[in-house]
Amino acid sequence: MALMQQLIRNLARPIVRRKYSTAVGFNFELSDEQKEMQALAKKFAAEEIIPVASHYDKTGEYPWPVVKKAWELGLMNGHIPQDIGGLGLDVLTTCVMAEEIAYGCTGIMTAMEASGLGQTPVLLSGNKEQKKKYLGRLLEEPLVAAYCVTEPGAGSDVNGVKTRAVKKGDEYILNGQKMWITNGGVANWYFVLARTDSDPKAPANKAFTGFIVERETPGLTPGRKEQNMGQRASDTRGITFEDVRVPKENVLIGEGAGFKIAMGTFDKTRPPVAAGAVGLAQRCLDEALKYSLERKTFGVPIAMHQAVSFMLADMAMGVETSRLAYRKAAYEVDQGRRNSYYASIAKCHAADVANKIASDAVQIFGGNGFNSEYPVEKLMRDAKIYQIYEGTSQIQRIIISRQLFDRLGK
Ligand SMILES: Cc1cc2nc3c(=O)[nH]c(=O)nc-3n(C[C@H](O)[C@H](O)[C@H](O)COP(=O)(O)OP(=O)(O)OC[C@H]3O[C@@H](n4cnc5c(N)ncnc54)[C@H](O)[C@@H]3O)c2cc1C
Repeated sequence: MALMQQLIRNLARPIVRRKYSTAVGFNFELSDEQKEMQALAKKFAAEEIIPVASHYDKTGEYPWPVVKKAWELGLMNGHIPQDIGGLGLDVLTTCVMAEEIAYGCTGIMTAMEASGLGQTPVLLSGNKEQKKKYLGRLLEEPLVAAYCVTEPGAGSDVNGVKTRAVKKGDEYILNGQKMWITNGGVANWYFVLARTDSDPKAPANKAFTGFIVERETPGLTPGRKEQNMGQRASDTRGITFEDVRVPKENVLIGEGAGFKIAMGTFDKTRPPVAAGAVGLAQRCLDEALKYSLERKTFGVPIAMHQAVSFMLADMAMGVETSRLAYRKAAYEVDQGRRNSYYASIAKCHAADVANKIASDAVQIFGGNGFNSEYPVEKLMRDAKIYQIYEGTSQIQRIIISRQLFDRLGK
């Protein structure tokens, strides 16, 4: 394992150095190092994820053995900067790896990726001590983080967050209820968004503060694991905060900065989510293609019926375009440019494509597609969440259209 980690470190270095040199021309080619990371993730998915994906889907257990192996191999936390001991991978490389992991099982991919979502506010806005303590901890042990923003009454409308944080001396006292938190029951620490301005009319960019909250803080209680339609390996829970005392050192940036941190996070995390949807879509296409060449009706493989082959062609178009979209979104943010527009396009397009493709894959499998003995039924259940979490497809369209209006000064 140590040897493998060293190999990954060696591979990662040139990627970081090359980050800006890739800007010289129009290029669809991944670097050799990125291809090696991709191959590593692909091998891991084939050997460690696909064989157990059905088990975790059926039982809903958290896939700790897989997460721990991924951690040992350096397949988790790749984005943590090198000065803290991480690999400092760019977003594009982590996306390419995420696609491969998702090909194996998007439930397991979400269990791994949600830790990245919880870490990103700290990566973006944590001070030196916060980064060292909380990101460093995740490199020392196979632990995961979580991102706590959504509440029972506030999902798309983040401005409706009601969890309150009141300053008392050197601490903040948090009270409230979060909902739908991925890794909610297994995280070692959480990013938590809470309202610090008592004025209900305070604008969002002043009203909220972002905190790092330790799992073991008294008063913090994760609820039961939610029974979801798909991605059942991932752990989704409500979390209750009752007089949870958080030291002021755990505030990110300062009072009032929380909304910007929470929303800015998505520029980095939506491209990997889109990559996950592409991994799922590619798996659907591969499964459907294979089946269509084996299954015969009217004396020929069903792939020979134009209605079926056109469905496969449409699936391929969706996979290719959504892959390009996430790579563009990742590339933009890696160049240090604001990519919200591209991140929303990538996330929305890949989510919609994955759902269409998963449904078509079930169609190609016919009756077998509706049955859990065949792989596509799980893929269709797993696909749906891509249109909901990290901003619904409607919210992505709002972001994209607002950017169009902004460009015209409207
Ligand atoms: C499995 C799972 C994991 C999740 N993980 C996390 C997590 O780790 N951390 C976290 O903080 N949250 C998480 N979430 C929450 C997720 O981000 C929210 O569910 C999502 O943002 C939608 O919010 P909502 O459920 O409150 O729906 P609502 O906001 O109530 O929306 C309901 C419907 O109305 C539509 N809608 C709402 N407003 C508009 C509008 N202005 N225009 C058009 N349509 C609109 C929505 O698109 C949706 O179709 C998770 C959710 C799930 C199901």
